[in-house]
Amino acid sequence: MQFIDVHTHTSSTQKDVFSIENKYPNSKDFSKPFSIGIHPWYISEDSLQNDLATVEKLVISENCYALGECGLDRISATGFSLQLEVFKQQIQLSEKYNKPLIIHCVKAFQEIIQLKKEIKPKQPWIVHGFNKNYQIALDLIQHQICISFGESLLKNKKLQETFLKLPLDFLFLETDTSEESIKNIYKTASELRKIEKQIIIKTVKQNFSRIFKR
Ligand SMILES: [Zn+2]
Repeated sequence: MQFIDVHTHTSSTQKDVFSIENKYPNSKDFSKPFSIGIHPWYISEDSLQNDLATVEKLVISENCYALGECGLDRISATGFSLQLEVFKQQIQLSEKYNKPLIIHCVKAFQEIIQLKKEIKPKQPWIVHGFNKNYQIALDLIQHQICISFGESLLKNKKLQETFLKLPLDFLFLETDTSEESIKNIYKTASELRKIEKQIIIKTVKQNFSRIFKR
């Protein structure tokens, strides 16, 4: 059984781990499964057109599983309206090339939900690195947005309570920039839910097949 890590910055070398490694327009190696996007922290007005063209060129690759991470971040130095514009352009690419969208969101969940309602995308959306409250999680799920949990699940008590109450068919797990092993995150998820680890592995795998169509 494979442990799926839906969002990481360092892809695993372990045979029983399948990871989607996050790449940027200036990344070099695209030989392993990846996602590519312009992160709201790294929007440069000077290189924006080039960066978008690079994303568009790479997103069609068979190894590309998703567009992103991209999104909205209220505490980023990049102006919010520029972030919004760049995010919308990447939503269009996700739709045009039929790749799911991996979303980075900080203090902008209502905007993400609003965009989902306006644009009505055909491609699935996944909010990664979720560490907010139950109400926000529920809002996202009610709008068919998947949620990926990472390292915070290991220690954040409130997040653990939220995790317990959520339906599992919108769930993903990830390591993001953490050094934590994805297997440990699966282990914690299964202990919290008091179900076998195999069931978590199977559920995430089913979600993965449904969302990524692979
Ligand atoms: Zn990340």
